[in-house]
Amino acid sequence: MARKPSRLEFAVIGLGRFGRSVALNLIERGHTVLGIDRDPNIVQQLADRMTQVVALDSTNEDALRAVDILSFDTVVVAIGSQFEANLMTTVALKQLGVKRVVCKALNERQQYILSRVGADMVVLPEHEAGARLAWQLSEPHLLEHLNLGHGFSVAEVKVPAPLVGQTLMQSGLRRRYGINVLAVKHNGKMIVTPPPEYVFSREDRILIIGTDNSISTFCDLSS
Ligand code: ATP
Repeated sequence: MARKPSRLEFAVIGLGRFGRSVALNLIERGHTVLGIDRDPNIVQQLADRMTQVVALDSTNEDALRAVDILSFDTVVVAIGSQFEANLMTTVALKQLGVKRVVCKALNERQQYILSRVGADMVVLPEHEAGARLAWQLSEPHLLEHLNLGHGFSVAEVKVPAPLVGQTLMQSGLRRRYGINVLAVKHNGKMIVTPPPEYVFSREDRILIIGTDNSISTFCDLSS
C-alpha cells in the first residue's frame, strides 16, 4: 500500500518505551518526527528509524530553540519517571510558544499539574491500558472498547446469538437496552447506520454506543 504523504510535523521528547512507540507509529503513518532524548546512546540506537533524532536536555530552553521547536505542529512530552523534567519541559515549551503540547502523566495529580501549567492534552497511558484490560477481562465478548468518559462508551461486539435472524427493529436495542447501533461489520463490509429492516447474521460484529452499564448488560446477552 502507498504511504500517506507527510502531513504533520511532530517532536517527541523522551524516547523510552512510550515515546518511542508514539514516534515510530507517527512515522509509520507518514508524518515527520523529530525524536529528542538526553541520553546519547538512545539517540544513536534510534538514528536509523526516525526522521531526525537529537540528544539534548529538554529542560533547557536554549537547546529547544536551537532545534527550532516552534516549527513543530505538536510536541509530545513522553518523560515519565522524572516528573520534574516533564514539568520543566512542558513549562519551557509553552513559554516558547509551542501551540500544542501533549504530555504523559503517571497519575491524576501529575495530570492536574501539567494541565495547570498549560499542557494542551495530558494522557495517562497506564491508567488507560488498565481500564481497557479491566473491560476486556470482565466482558470477554467485547472486541473493542472506547471510553468516551461521563459513563459512556463505544464498543464493538459479536452479535449475541439470541439476536441472529432478527431485524434491527425487532431486536429493540434502543428501547430495551438504551443502545444505539452505529454500524455493522458484515462479510468484511461496513454498513454505517444500518436500516431498521437489517437482519443480523451469525458472524456480524456491531459497533454500539451507550452507557457503560447498558453495554455491560447487552454483553451479558452473549453469555
Ligand atoms: P517508558 O515507560 O516510556 O519507558 P519511563 O517513564 O520509564 O518511560 P523515563 O526514564 O521517565 O522513562 O523517561 C523516558 C525517556 O526520557 C528516557 O529515555 C530519558 O532519557 C528521557 N529523558 C528524561 N529526562 C529528559 C530530559 N530532561 N530531556 C530529554 N530527555 C529526557
